[in-house]
Amino acid sequence: MYAQVIVDIAHSNVDKIFEYSCGEDVKPGCRVKVPFGGRVIDGFVMGISGVSSYPAEKIKPLAGVYSEPPALVPECFSLMQSMAKRYRVPKAVCLRLFIPSEMRLGKVREVYRKRVKYTSDITLSKSAVKQREFFDYLKLEKDVDYAIVCNQFGRGAVNAVIEKGAGALYSVKVNRSPMQGGGEREEKKILTAAQLAALKSIESSAQTVQLIHGVTGSGKTEIYLNAIANAVKQGKTAIFLVPEISLTPQMLSQLRRRFGDGAAILHSGLSAGERFDEWWRLRTGEAKIAIGARSAVFAPLENLGVIIIDEEHDSSYFSESSPRYSTLDIAKLRAQYNRCKLILGSATPSVESYAAAKKGEYNLITLTERINGKPMPEIEIADMRKEVKRGNNSAFSQALREELKETLENGNQAIIFLNRRGYSHTVICQECGYVAKCENCDVSLAYHSEENCLKCHYCGAKYRMPRACPECGGLHLRYGGTGTQKVVADLKAAFPQARILRMDNDTTSGKEGHYKILKSFGDHEADILVGTQMIAKGHDFPSVTLVGILDADMSLHFSDYRAGERTFQLITQVSGRSGRAGEAGKVVLQTSSPENYILRYAVNYDYQGFFNNEIALRETTQFPPFSLIVRVMVTSSEDKIALEALKGVWFDIEELRKENPDRFIFLNKMHSPIKKIQGKVRYQVLMRLTGDSLLEEIYDISVKHTTSDALVYVEENPANLS
Ligand code: ADP
Ligand code: ZN
Repeated sequence: MYAQVIVDIAHSNVDKIFEYSCGEDVKPGCRVKVPFGGRVIDGFVMGISGVSSYPAEKIKPLAGVYSEPPALVPECFSLMQSMAKRYRVPKAVCLRLFIPSEMRLGKVREVYRKRVKYTSDITLSKSAVKQREFFDYLKLEKDVDYAIVCNQFGRGAVNAVIEKGAGALYSVKVNRSPMQGGGEREEKKILTAAQLAALKSIESSAQTVQLIHGVTGSGKTEIYLNAIANAVKQGKTAIFLVPEISLTPQMLSQLRRRFGDGAAILHSGLSAGERFDEWWRLRTGEAKIAIGARSAVFAPLENLGVIIIDEEHDSSYFSESSPRYSTLDIAKLRAQYNRCKLILGSATPSVESYAAAKKGEYNLITLTERINGKPMPEIEIADMRKEVKRGNNSAFSQALREELKETLENGNQAIIFLNRRGYSHTVICQECGYVAKCENCDVSLAYHSEENCLKCHYCGAKYRMPRACPECGGLHLRYGGTGTQKVVADLKAAFPQARILRMDNDTTSGKEGHYKILKSFGDHEADILVGTQMIAKGHDFPSVTLVGILDADMSLHFSDYRAGERTFQLITQVSGRSGRAGEAGKVVLQTSSPENYILRYAVNYDYQGFFNNEIALRETTQFPPFSLIVRVMVTSSEDKIALEALKGVWFDIEELRKENPDRFIFLNKMHSPIKKIQGKVRYQVLMRLTGDSLLEEIYDISVKHTTSDALVYVEENPANLS
């Protein structure tokens, strides 16, 4: 037999099929070891055949086969082909997405524990006290853990009893599953009429993609869970994607209660061993439901019955490293392959998805009411320009202060949202205007009061806080732009009695960092939670009756065509945390541009109004979905080399435009908005195209100009244009 193998090397030079001779035990999808260029490396078996296209004496045998079942499911081959073609990356790079990195790097293995089973009665001499003690224990318990009894009775005694024939050693595979100990099962809820109608519409729909547009608290999750349960009932499997699962412990415990060991979670908060075991439970079919963030779209499941993408508008669904795939695109491919439904859900669908639904490409399902009939919280706009005129230079408007006071007096909880961590965003010399900047990145440094240092939020570099300006020696350094640490300090000053928690990237390190903060706030151990966008997502805290949005404009003024959309989404999501149970909720939204139309729609929860306005705007200005934005990035540690590569890219793309003038709406080359990140200079060729027909050529150009010193890559409708 001959195996067709793709070697696990991420280079286009070896991106082809190699043949090796092999035994009967090798199957398509197996991971194998192969001799390659004088070394032994890993590879993936793509196919098996009885005949070879090479002369027999030229073919080497495989050097080894990894464990059964084959690591790759059959669907991988078709997905890999599409991805490799679509994103112009070596096939090995695509295949790597389908298996846990722990497995590839050989860092984690399956863990076995030794146990001792009682086999037969024996007689022991009176003097062997420990042996007798262990023997009696074994006879009583019948089956015990070897390590534990060794600890308890002494290894010598345990081994002696086994040798004398009273017990037999054996091994069991240990599951490091975080789902273990599922607790009591959750009772299924009686579905509302709206939920039933939604499920029915999904089932009878002719379209593959289903878009559920449902206000926060409208019971979307329950619809997902029922769709999953239906798939499992039919003997099928399911993938459930959420933006950042480690941020939503409530969602996790709900899933655990509903599906027990039938579900496996894949997320970055797990230990390597846990992730590895969860992945195997899916691959062997022990678990039929995969739950996780973006990368769980590659879960090793066969016979999918449904795929769900919750909060489908979230930017975390775009991969920011090679291959730069969109999770939605991969999910569509998998849904087509498996002939199953793909359900997208959001309270604020992306403009692209909603437009597709309006055009009839997706089945649109709308839920307009919250489950418990509670109204959406009232959003009050606080005009920060007026506050400044009145002499209020603090981070809090008068309205927010009063609402906070009342909330605390009533024993309720509040959430304060600000999308900036640290104490201040910048440090500026008041005498010469010097701004502290990172040496590796073209960004200003944030001051962190707890460590009394300056930090770069792009590369993580830390710098000592200067006592005087390094440029002019001036002693008056000013903190510009409020961050979460300063908000906490100001809150403490204004409300000395209040218990305050902070949640941002600085406070959530460690495996359970998020969980601890959320649990503590959920248990009402604090009155106010201050945080970045981590606190915007999906949390359900019944006692929260006030949400303060400190700077609604921040995302509005980004030079990104999605700025308005993002702001609308963020305000709606954060506001959705207020007044979910019991008392009515309230939101105070601080802004310096209260007349902005995006804020107007957000305040009224008017998604339709927002969408109609936005889509008209995008049509006149020819932005997505009426065009495709393509950015070719050129980065290098040396400016000269980057410019050289940029010149080559630019020349080729200009040629392409000359040949296809009607396909280009816009084309330009420039420094990227952030000129340097992690020591690499960044240039870009930015274009807007009428469609995706030139993508192949553009990817070709990027591959052509990539060298060992300059990286050139393509981004399609990038989520982040910095
Ligand atoms: P969404 O995902 O749309 O924001 P959720 O699914 O979180 O909404 O539902 C909001 C609340 O309503 C949750 O507390 C959920 O447990 C509850 N809920 C959902 N469906 C039902 C139902 N059919 N009966 C009772 N409670 C429900
Ligand atoms: Zn930096």
